[in-house]
Amino acid sequence: MPCRRRVCPWCSRRVAASTRDGIAPRLRQFSDVVQFTSSLESSHDLTQAWSDHQRAISRFSRNGWLTGRTAGWFRATETTHSADHGWHVHSHWLLFHENALELRRLVSELPQHWIQSAHAEALSASTRGQHAAMSADIAESVRYVTKGLMEPSRRTDRQTPGDILRSFQAGGAEAAELWAELEGFTTAKRRRWTASGGCLRGTTRIENR
Ligand SMILES: [Zn+2]
Repeated sequence: MPCRRRVCPWCSRRVAASTRDGIAPRLRQFSDVVQFTSSLESSHDLTQAWSDHQRAISRFSRNGWLTGRTAGWFRATETTHSADHGWHVHSHWLLFHENALELRRLVSELPQHWIQSAHAEALSASTRGQHAAMSADIAESVRYVTKGLMEPSRRTDRQTPGDILRSFQAGGAEAAELWAELEGFTTAKRRRWTASGGCLRGTTRIENR
């Protein structure tokens, strides 16, 4: 029986594949996607960073802000770690609409709306940490956003949980501590790593562990 946990190298890959298979058939009517990354300031306390991030998401999505502006959306939350700044909890979003004009408007609205939502919750978010862009390569955007926690980081100054596990297995003492923190965090309770709405509603039900 697979454990289906986010930090399991085997299950993480399977979850990514099943999510992609679930959402791909629902995207045929779209020719573009807005890819958005949202984040807060990093923290040395993973549990705190997670709950702050969830609060910002709730404020951000409040009053149907997202649902009213899109035909469908998908969110995947991830975390990386850097020695200097600690845990960087962030979300990757995919936003769909048939009308390219609506998508272009979203690209300009999203970062500002995220920052305002964070500030309304007394949380720190800077313009540097948010990025919105339109793409015509929907398959690649879906692949990137559903990649999960265990792929290697593209940046040398940040480690994904996968990087942390590999360096723990190679005997790293600091990585052992970080891995223990991650294991405690992921087993403490079920967390909503992904969510979806509109035409993508229901695609993430099976995988939130
Ligand atoms: Zn597993």
